Amino acid sequence: MNEIILLKLGELVLKGLNRRSFEDKLQANLHRRLHPFGQFRVYTRQSATYVEPMQDSCDVAGAYEALKKVFGIVGLSLARPCEKDKDAILAAAQEFLGDKLRAARTFKVETKRADKTFPMTSIQLSQYVGGELHERYPNLTVDVHHPELTVFLEVRDYSAYVHASPEPGAGGLPVGINGRAAALLSGGIDSPVAAYMIAKRGVALDMVHFFSYPYTSQQAKDKVLELARLLTPYTGQLTVHVVPFTAIQEELRRSCPEELFTIVMRRFMMRISQKVAARCGAKALVTGESLGQVASQTMDAMHVTGAVVNLPVLRPVVGMDKEEIVQISRKIGTYDTSILPYEDCCTVFTPRHPRLRPVLGEVEHAEEALDIDGMVQAAVDGIERIQIRG
Ligand code: ATP
Ligand code: MG
Repeated sequence: MNEIILLKLGELVLKGLNRRSFEDKLQANLHRRLHPFGQFRVYTRQSATYVEPMQDSCDVAGAYEALKKVFGIVGLSLARPCEKDKDAILAAAQEFLGDKLRAARTFKVETKRADKTFPMTSIQLSQYVGGELHERYPNLTVDVHHPELTVFLEVRDYSAYVHASPEPGAGGLPVGINGRAAALLSGGIDSPVAAYMIAKRGVALDMVHFFSYPYTSQQAKDKVLELARLLTPYTGQLTVHVVPFTAIQEELRRSCPEELFTIVMRRFMMRISQKVAARCGAKALVTGESLGQVASQTMDAMHVTGAVVNLPVLRPVVGMDKEEIVQISRKIGTYDTSILPYEDCCTVFTPRHPRLRPVLGEVEHAEEALDIDGMVQAAVDGIERIQIRG
């Protein structure tokens, strides 16, 4: 018999959001994530979700790894099915959890009995299996309050199951339960982390990337697409909107005071991103800005860039140190790609002395001579949309 996967769901005590839509969204996301690994049956009983392979060919180990990255799940364990018989259950526990039983010093056994025709009570079965394990593993003593290892036994309708303490899941909320946002994705370390953090709160994402070919290379674009692909186990399928940005940057270099180049350029990014957001139903923009990290990330600069849009700008890493952001990027697996040495459009034409405290009126004045609507529209018209299936 194939193993099954047990999931513990998170944040079910949400205020205002209802439990049903949480579960429905999670179910839909689970089915999508499980699809490459075969056909599975997914159902929820008594606050646990069961993921059962329906064919022998199902890749349960692959599915388990994939489910570790699905938001809305706080814990996962693999469970071994066995016959509904006390000695079969004991044998399954020894075989399936042998390494854990040998490594732990303290343990306890907990039983859930859904099948009320089973001849022992939960307590009797726990005592029987616990007693036998205690005898067979001299390293183990029972600790019912803070055991290193909890052996869970479940007697259900068709089978019994054995499993151990769950591993941590991705946490957060099922993607899609909190609407959609457009995330500005550069090739750096911060923006993939920012996108991950907002997706974790249940937000579906569209990605926007500004591309300045030939100042930035095809490799730089491929790197961004790779970052998006690395995020899909968390976010689900993504569209990357690649915005041609060269013409705008060249125009700004010609006509904009050098020290305001970066801030004016970033205002164009925001305007264009807001157009993309409108097209895909996104209600917020997401950036990887962190306060004080570089010249364009002062509070004044954030005020002046934010002033051209009316959607909220979410900056989930705004209060984090670089080291904390790096830690998350390592954890989610984007770091090694982020540090590949390709140029980003933000480093093209960077002024030597960017204005640290731009003043809104002065920046607006610098933009007066520009055909802003025409420049934005031309960029939007040139967008290339790339689907990343993950
Ligand atoms: P990151 O590590 O995310 O690149 P950064 O520290 O390099 O950030 P900036 O270059 O000032 O900071 O960019 C700030 C934010 O603006 C980025 O986090 C990202 O959200 C957005 N951004 C910058 N360049 C681009 C780009 N080429 N395409 C899309 N978004 C961008
Ligand atoms: Mg960058």
